Amino acid sequence: MTTGAGRGAQSAMRVSPVAKIVTVTKQVEKSRCRWCGVALPDAPGPGRRREFCRRSHRQRLYEARRLAAVHELGPDDVLLSRHVFEELRDRLYRLEAALEDTAADLAGSATATQLREVLDHLRQRAGELVQLHLEPKAVGQ
Ligand SMILES: [Zn+2]
Repeated sequence: MTTGAGRGAQSAMRVSPVAKIVTVTKQVEKSRCRWCGVALPDAPGPGRRREFCRRSHRQRLYEARRLAAVHELGPDDVLLSRHVFEELRDRLYRLEAALEDTAADLAGSATATQLREVLDHLRQRAGELVQLHLEPKAVGQ
C-alpha cells in the first residue's frame, strides 16, 4: 500500500507572507493527581502508575469519600465550601463578561491597541479562574 508520504509528498510547511501571531499549545495527556489535579511526572519504566502527587493527597481523597458516604452523596456529587463555590461562580461570571467584551470588540472596529487591551483583560480574567484553588470537602463515589 502506498501512502505517498515517502515519495516526495508535501511535508514542508508553507509559510504565509502574512504575519500571524498564533500560538497553539498541544495538550499532552498526562496523568493527574486524583485529588488536586496537578500533572504527575512520567513514571520511568514499568510498574504501577502514580495516582497522587503526594501521600497526603491520597489521604485527603479518602477522607473526602468518607465524608461523602456520611452525607450519602452520589457518584456525581461533590461538596464544596460556600466560599469556594461563590469564588468559582464569581470568577466564571467575570470571565464570561470579559468574553462578551472581547466578542463585541472583535466585531467592531477596534484598533490594535484596543484589541491588545481587551486580550490582556481576558487573559487576566482567565488567569484568575485558573488560579482558583478548587478543593472539595467531599467527593461521592
Ligand atoms: Zn495532588
